[in-house]
Amino acid sequence: MATLIQLHKTHMGGDFRDFFINGSATYDYRIPGTNCSKCGEMWAYRQITTFECPDEIREEMADIVEAKPNKPWEELSVFISKWERKVIEYYPKARLLPGFRLQPIKWDIPSYPESDVYFKMGSVIVRDNAKQVIEKNRFTGLCFFSVLLRQVGELKESEIILEDEIDMEEDVIEPCDLLAAAPKLDDLNDVGIFFNAITEFDAYRDIKEKESRVTKACDFCGYVRYDLPQERQEEYEYYKLNKFIPEKYVPDYDIFDSHIHRGWLMRPEVYEALKTECDLRNCEVHEIKVVKNP
Ligand SMILES: [Zn+2]
Repeated sequence: MATLIQLHKTHMGGDFRDFFINGSATYDYRIPGTNCSKCGEMWAYRQITTFECPDEIREEMADIVEAKPNKPWEELSVFISKWERKVIEYYPKARLLPGFRLQPIKWDIPSYPESDVYFKMGSVIVRDNAKQVIEKNRFTGLCFFSVLLRQVGELKESEIILEDEIDMEEDVIEPCDLLAAAPKLDDLNDVGIFFNAITEFDAYRDIKEKESRVTKACDFCGYVRYDLPQERQEEYEYYKLNKFIPEKYVPDYDIFDSHIHRGWLMRPEVYEALKTECDLRNCEVHEIKVVKNP
């Protein structure tokens, strides 16, 4: 029976340490969510695009999403049309919808990143050595985008707050305090080169098209609700618990994402190559069995 390897997020020392040392990532260039006066829905797709936000609209997009996470469809649709016109000058097939996150991702780094692979904001950020392993072996399924690195954190090493000195129950910790308390990085150029690695296969879209049914649609804002039949959800849960995947959900890529299992799935030879040349300490690894379709 064929097997796959699942790589997903773990953190040595927990989420707090990860945030404290490895920082946080955000998509500054994203489309706000919307609320529709006709269907009454408040909605956004959390899709990450495989195209960059053109320079000409970056400032406006960042300002608008920062001002308000949601906008009435009447207002937002004007911006989306305008932004889409600009985007398709560079990427003719691109479409924009509420909630879309455009490249590049911004990574606020307070300290020296500890590993070669990070799972952040629904994205996977890898060091250039991981990208080289993928490209050298011609493994399929990933495309790479530059990461905007920004240095944060201002305290000296002597002022570092260790996680075991903080009582998470008692102290309210703000993200900006965590970042400010990280061991300071001397020079951003020392951290290395990183890429945002996006899977070409979109398992959620695939499942929406193949196994969901449309239960609501709005002809004004374009909102569509896809629901999975109850028995499907129970099936997925069963596969997840037993760590297997029916072969119909395995696409023809060496690395891909899955609607059943978190993180990345990959063929064993990809994992072997990555394991040999990269530091994967931030990843949890499991074996997933490929089984015949039910
Ligand atoms: Zn609507």
